[in-house]
Amino acid sequence: MKPYACLPEHSRGRRHSEPEAPAHAPSFRNPHQRDRDRIVHSTAFRRLVYKTQVFLNHEGDLFRTRMTHSLEVAQLGRSIARALGLNEDLVEAIALAHDLGHTPFGHAGQDALNECMAPYGGFEHNLQSLRVVDELEERYPSFNGLNLSFETREGILKHCARRNAELINAQEPGGVAARFLNGTQPSLEAQLCNLADAIAYNAHDIDDGVRSGLLTLEHMQDVPLFARYHAQTLDEHPQLHGRRVLYETIRRMLSDQVYDVINATREALESHLPNSAEAARQCSPLVQFSAAMYDESKALKSFLFRNLYRHPQVMQTTDWAREVVRELFAAYLNQPHEMPAAYAQGRDLPRAVADYLSGMTDRFATREHARLTA
Ligand code: MG
Repeated sequence: MKPYACLPEHSRGRRHSEPEAPAHAPSFRNPHQRDRDRIVHSTAFRRLVYKTQVFLNHEGDLFRTRMTHSLEVAQLGRSIARALGLNEDLVEAIALAHDLGHTPFGHAGQDALNECMAPYGGFEHNLQSLRVVDELEERYPSFNGLNLSFETREGILKHCARRNAELINAQEPGGVAARFLNGTQPSLEAQLCNLADAIAYNAHDIDDGVRSGLLTLEHMQDVPLFARYHAQTLDEHPQLHGRRVLYETIRRMLSDQVYDVINATREALESHLPNSAEAARQCSPLVQFSAAMYDESKALKSFLFRNLYRHPQVMQTTDWAREVVRELFAAYLNQPHEMPAAYAQGRDLPRAVADYLSGMTDRFATREHARLTA
């Protein structure tokens, strides 16, 4: 690892102090490896299998879910981290946890729950991911949550409204929310996860979009980033047809973006020369695309927005999902006894409903909706 990486031996530690290894055995894991293992064993992580990314979970078995998305982000992130001398284990931990706070039904669910919670402090999925690992997981005898290290929690809190940052910072002065108030950056590992997230969903949403029939290869010719590798693929393999053309195109697209991030970030590191993780936090964002790739990636993203996420067929299911979340929220608010008793304790009712509802998988939410609105 390079000096600008978050070195495990310089970790700012955990909120609740605990020995790094059981008394009877020497530690063979560093704090970030331990974080990753805690995340993999958590209940919220297992639920990602049945949470929607774009397509609802019951629409097909081969579409991405939050689980496979998180694994793809971890894979891309680790590859880039290794090339740049960053902390691979930390990148993996952040990537596997970054979507733990997502509601059922993807962004539609998150938007609906945010609307329901507007009078009660709102609902942000990044903040909820932090809430899952800090408060909601119940696995340890003497504290709530997973008690992850500062660096992993910092990476999980990717965005945060100023008002929420002030609230968190009041409880944890100078902690994970401080950067939203003082304008510094998160670690390079956290910056990398944000970029790997975008690279992953842009690529797999093309794949899922084409496989669902909502996007076609002809359609994708409007996207320069795709069209270039598509032409390259057919040029080198004129006989190739069907799915392999799509996969080979996406594979080239992914790998070029990875090399682009590695090269552009190396240049940024060479011009800023941060000599510690802390120094890197004081710089402008350093993990980045080249200017040309940034524009192309933005164009792809807006193409997907217009043609896939806003496709009438997708909109139809997301409208339904919004309705389910709104009606479930109202049902639990009016009949809190329909929730497990533990949720109604120790927090105000709307927040308890948001915690319960956001933890649901797509199919559990669908079943609960049928049960409570029959
Ligand atoms: Mg994500």
